[in-house]
Amino acid sequence: MAGEAKQGIIDGRAISKQIEAELTEEIASMKADAGIVPGLATILVGQDPASQLYVRLKHKACDRVGIYAEDQKLDASITQEELLDVIENLNTRADIHGILLQLPLPQHLDAKEAMQAIDPAKDVDGFHPYNMGNLMIGDEGFVPCTPAGVILALEYYDVDIEGKDAVIVGHSNVVGKPMAAMLLNRNATVAVCHVYTKDLKSYTIDADILVVAAGVKHLIKEDMVKKGAVVFDVGITEEEGKIYGDVDFENVANKASLVTPVPGGVGPMTIATLLTHVTFAAKEIE
Ligand code: NAD
Repeated sequence: MAGEAKQGIIDGRAISKQIEAELTEEIASMKADAGIVPGLATILVGQDPASQLYVRLKHKACDRVGIYAEDQKLDASITQEELLDVIENLNTRADIHGILLQLPLPQHLDAKEAMQAIDPAKDVDGFHPYNMGNLMIGDEGFVPCTPAGVILALEYYDVDIEGKDAVIVGHSNVVGKPMAAMLLNRNATVAVCHVYTKDLKSYTIDADILVVAAGVKHLIKEDMVKKGAVVFDVGITEEEGKIYGDVDFENVANKASLVTPVPGGVGPMTIATLLTHVTFAAKEIE
């Protein structure tokens, strides 16, 4: 899939639109040929506004391509046992192929145990240790959607990964660590930086591919980026109703060969990857 670079800006919305068009067709034939409608269940515990928004965006995307989506809205006071019962029930349902537990959970709940209760075959977020373990040994099945979206964009824009110096800022389980594994699986030389890294710039300045997922507004300035680098900005910071990324986009765009905007970059590709995973999960049981 070869894309067209528009003035050095990675157009996440355009990539996701193309993926959605392909999935819409695929899902229509799955329905017509085998009577299968891919199904996603999201689990939303409590009333966190950001989580509510993310779940809404995922449901809207499912509607656009023909995936059945339902939201298990659970009260913030739910017990761990009740949450595990909901997951267990979804694990057994034939019409649900993907289960997504929206994080963060209220403090009294054990997110790790809940994640591990999801059937790995329905773990479309790719957070289950079984799927994470497979990713580490180079067997990529369900992998976390955000780093998978970055790989998708690299492929879309025909960026070679092999032999490149890749630097990731952020070492979370959902973005930084799986991103590192996915780039290593494609033979990049990978450095992972984080809040304890002594001299961040000394790493970022050498990156051919730079992925930033720290959640710190404009952490990465123009002088920290190598000329011609490909830069992915995963971060989201909201300030007075405006969304900012981790990269000083205006200035870095002059220096990078490709860079993602925020919003409209990594976010839509993350959702497109989720849709792909749900469709794949449904095909597996065909
Ligand atoms: P996290 O809080 O779990 O991890 C943040 C990471 O950044 C940690 O490794 C931390 O050490 C590092 N970090 C923090 N400050 C730093 C600094 N000053 N210098 C260097 N490293 C620093 O976050 P996460 O869940 O990985 O998410 C990161 C950001 O990406 C957040 O803003 C989040 O909202 C966003 N996000 C966006 C998407 C999307 O689809 N666009 C998906 C997931 C996360």
